[in-house]
Amino acid sequence: MTAEQMTAVSRGRTLDRFTVPEERVHVPGGGLSRIDIDRACAAGRREAGRFTGWAPADLAVFLGVVLTDAAWSAGLPALILFAETEIRSRSVTLNEAAIDEAALSLRELPQAGPWRERSRIRTVVLAHELYHVASRRSGRRSAEIEAHAFARQLTGMPFSPLLYEWAVRSTRALDPKQYPRAAAAAKG
Ligand SMILES: [Zn+2]
Repeated sequence: MTAEQMTAVSRGRTLDRFTVPEERVHVPGGGLSRIDIDRACAAGRREAGRFTGWAPADLAVFLGVVLTDAAWSAGLPALILFAETEIRSRSVTLNEAAIDEAALSLRELPQAGPWRERSRIRTVVLAHELYHVASRRSGRRSAEIEAHAFARQLTGMPFSPLLYEWAVRSTRALDPKQYPRAAAAAKG
């Protein structure tokens, strides 16, 4: 097997991991039990069930969300911020820089199909943020898992949206000078 083939195999396995419906397989514990994670997923999917068939862009209008596109660096290499949302003012700011970074990281993962396109990534990120606005829940780890499950069901994405974070982290890990902590985490 050539090195190239091996890379393709390992990437294929990685994607399989993200197709499992229970987020628990790739959510690092974060103090939550498996039951907590399953519960959070169910809550996110239940909320998405209220909006079946809605495009996230239309849902944003329906919820009265003020949507802004911006681009910023989170400052810390270990931190990936795809968006910032303020529930009270119903404002969602999408981070185009992070969305671009995910699209770039996924370029060589053909198994991800159309979900590699930046417009899709943007839609999934938006759906995630809309969960926070619609449910008025954010901040806790469980609310993040709920939002991922919500985004996955609303958009019909066949993978966990955590794929995007993973892709950015993996790419950063290849650049140990700029991202020493990401590189160390990938090794360990
Ligand atoms: Zn969130």
